[in-house]
Amino acid sequence: MCGIIAYKGKDKAISVILEGLKNLEYRGYDSWGIACKSNPSIVLTKGVGNIGEVTEEEIKSELYKGKPLTIGIGHTRWATHGGVTKENAHPHQSENHRVAVVHNGIIENFEELKAKLKNIKFKSETDTEVIPQLLQYHMESRKDFEKAFVDTLKELQGNYAVVAIDQQSDKVLFGKVGSPLVIGKKEDEYFVASDIPAFLKHTNQVIYLEDGEYGSIGDSLKIYKLSNNQIINKDVQTVDWNLEQAQKGEYPHFMIKEIMEQRDSITRALEQKNSNLLKVIEMMKKAKGIFLVGCGTSFHACVSASYNFSHIAKAHVNIVLASEFRNYEEFLTDESLMIAVSQSGETADLIDAVKVAKAKGVKIISLVNVMGSTLKRMSDESLLMNAGPEICVCSTKNYTSQLAILLLLAYGFADRLEEGKELIQSAANKVEELIKNNLDKIKDLAKKLKDNKNMFLIGRDLAYPSALEGALKIKEVSYIHAEGFAGGELKHGTIALIEEGTPVITLATPETEQLINSNAIEIKSRGGYIIGIGSKKHEVYDFYIEVPNFKQANPLLMIVPIQLLAYYLAVERNCNPDKPRNLAKSVTVR
Ligand code: GLU
Repeated sequence: MCGIIAYKGKDKAISVILEGLKNLEYRGYDSWGIACKSNPSIVLTKGVGNIGEVTEEEIKSELYKGKPLTIGIGHTRWATHGGVTKENAHPHQSENHRVAVVHNGIIENFEELKAKLKNIKFKSETDTEVIPQLLQYHMESRKDFEKAFVDTLKELQGNYAVVAIDQQSDKVLFGKVGSPLVIGKKEDEYFVASDIPAFLKHTNQVIYLEDGEYGSIGDSLKIYKLSNNQIINKDVQTVDWNLEQAQKGEYPHFMIKEIMEQRDSITRALEQKNSNLLKVIEMMKKAKGIFLVGCGTSFHACVSASYNFSHIAKAHVNIVLASEFRNYEEFLTDESLMIAVSQSGETADLIDAVKVAKAKGVKIISLVNVMGSTLKRMSDESLLMNAGPEICVCSTKNYTSQLAILLLLAYGFADRLEEGKELIQSAANKVEELIKNNLDKIKDLAKKLKDNKNMFLIGRDLAYPSALEGALKIKEVSYIHAEGFAGGELKHGTIALIEEGTPVITLATPETEQLINSNAIEIKSRGGYIIGIGSKKHEVYDFYIEVPNFKQANPLLMIVPIQLLAYYLAVERNCNPDKPRNLAKSVTVR
């Protein structure tokens, strides 16, 4: 939620920051602002609503007063404390206007701090404003910007990623606890941002910050531990994401671009170091009690994997929603193993579950897409999805990457790793053809279904988690109510909701087609409109989408037409699929 981009370098702070904020739009926000260090004062502009259409000329006319602008901070706000207004938009300044601050997160003790600063006049209703005011307060006694910043951070409780600038120094200061912040470095230019796409155009050399670290960019970059002020030497890492991956290119939305990319992203998911895979598999074989844990789409990948672990590996795994994991605490021992699955690696529910597990001595394996994420750093071993940046808020290509890696682990557990790789790769190779063959059909289907209020999806065995995930995609981006069910379950209650014309997507695999089609017949005789997805057509289907049979890898392909349907339903209903209402890409609150 929310985005930060700060820059120190050449006389191009406005363009870097404006572009950075636009590249962070996908995180969700309601207002924005930019501040640059100028002379004799910090210059600042803010707006409510969309930054997408704001041009560099407009910002320049507000901020550029004939002085080079080499230092600046920008922010897209997701309001937590105080309404969505220009006054509450960041950056916030101290009462004397000497410093400006952007913040992501929540300062839990802001009321207490405000009481301490009772002589200072606050301008906004935000929790954030205590930070610049406290900075001013400390600067009045300690004078030095950096020392005052450290004193300020030490007083903050809650979650923060903070960047501050000072009118009288050339330093950019930053610190974080609980919210993401990453540094980009390009010769003598520095970037500080919530996420890499903000500055990927300029550099792929990054330094990941950990909780409890702060630093300064003066003549050079310095990073310290907040608890003891000790300097830390951090590695500069190269991210192999490229700019093209973080841009829409010829596509109207990131969602469709990311759906289309899945042949390549699944292929990249298979590019795991063998030694790494074998280590993880060994840990799984040794463990007494394996828990697959995730939220939302990642949880559905875990459900799907549980069938593969049963069928292929003959290994018992428990699947648990991250937000419910605490309730299973008593089953954990130091011989248990947790496989934590998350695109961002920042999901608060999952981080909390990992903390619970670690306290019991559980070993953690994580599956993440973001290399320097909190989750990756907390784990004993980690497998990267290699999906490239996923900008659309709803997950598509990361889901299939998660499925691929978990399926690979199941094959590995059965000592059939190569067979698994071949099967997954051959399924991945079919993605483009599958899309090409069905695109027009799916567009027509979306036109037909766009005014429905309810939709159901049914599947058995491996097709059941695909039904769950398909329903989530449809709900997320088109706002049509959709529910996924195990085929056998509908008759235990929900079939009461089937009426004339209710669309029911029936996902069939060769192993389950007989039973699932018989469920579809039952539904059709109550008026349901049956959309069949599978490798064999059946007369009960009113509409049919053919998906070739790739056995245990079927979930990788089966979900693709539903992702497309969800996308075109959103487009037909004039919803922006990249930024669904009320949702944020990485959910950093519990
Ligand atoms: N809590 C702060 C506010 O409401 C920051 C919100 C954010 O992370 O964007 O302004």
